Amino acid sequence: MPEKKAILEKLASVQYPGLERSIVDLKIVDSVETEGERPIITLSMQNDEAFEILRERLADLFGGNVEVRRKAMAKKRDMNYGHTANPNNRAPYAKRVIAVTSGKGGVGKSTVSVNLAVALAQKGFKVGLLDADVYGPNIPRMLGTADEKLRWGENDKIIPSENFGIRIMSVGLTTPTSDTPLVWRSSVAVSALIQFLEDVDWGELDFLVIDMPPGTGDIQLTMAQELPITAGVIVTTPQPVALDDVSRAIMMFKDIHVPIGGLVENMSFFVAPDTGKRYDIFGTGGGEATAKRYDIPFLGQIPLDMQIREFSDSGTPPVAMGDDVQKGYYRTVAENLLAQIL
Ligand code: ADP
Repeated sequence: MPEKKAILEKLASVQYPGLERSIVDLKIVDSVETEGERPIITLSMQNDEAFEILRERLADLFGGNVEVRRKAMAKKRDMNYGHTANPNNRAPYAKRVIAVTSGKGGVGKSTVSVNLAVALAQKGFKVGLLDADVYGPNIPRMLGTADEKLRWGENDKIIPSENFGIRIMSVGLTTPTSDTPLVWRSSVAVSALIQFLEDVDWGELDFLVIDMPPGTGDIQLTMAQELPITAGVIVTTPQPVALDDVSRAIMMFKDIHVPIGGLVENMSFFVAPDTGKRYDIFGTGGGEATAKRYDIPFLGQIPLDMQIREFSDSGTPPVAMGDDVQKGYYRTVAENLLAQIL
């Protein structure tokens, strides 16, 4: 009869799909039984695709003579669904949590998250940035840490990357290459995010800035249930279509009792570098008017600026590497936010 210990040793060589970490280390193996010569292995996990891959890997490992069972994680039991007014605190190490979100994708939410986090660090605060945008996790690219892999410290916690004075962790690091699509069901994404809140070695933080996915969905709701969010920051562009989406995001935050730190209008205007003439490409004043309409603070405008895009896409945030005018836009947003919450 095969020894359970020998089976476990074999299992220690099996990696979780997409991670350089064994399923034993990750505590996914719930139990190991034997039925005669045949091991019965129960895995405790949520991800359907990963389970199928592991089932095949284990069949290969044991020459087909294995039974792989699955025990769904009791995720809901330790979550307090429906209590956003009195949420859990999965991040007790952070004094304040800032959730940056937007009505729709592509408005510059991640750029604002990055530069806001770096601006806060420049003021001397200890800052962590969690890239929770499961649909487009591009924070590591914007901060020049895209080549880093997940690493674990001696205390079994994930070591965050560090650059520009902030600690960084991204759901994008759980995929082997940056162009792997994250076809996660939202419940899987939610449990991955909760793991990042609990299992990353953030240290003590003055601010945990979270780059949320765009829109109003399960992930936003769960984050509001699992974290005492100090302030939501909403990013929009000034054109009416974007403002319709942002209204929904504002109403959702209000509904789920997340205090709103304010609205940032990105790509507000364009100053032609050759003539210095200002163009209001998407109209003007829409963000400020929306903030007034919903009675939330207006945190500032950031122009559409080719250099902002170039800095961001090459891993050097404009608030650190740009000129004084570019730095000023993001620092103003940070100051105005601090004025709301300190
Ligand atoms: P989101 O997180 O809302 O999807 P991103 O922050 O990823 O948006 O920005 C989308 C693209 O727009 C990126 O290429 C980024 O560099 C660019 N971008 C963001 N803000 C500006 C700006 N103010 N001026 C020029 N380009 C910008």
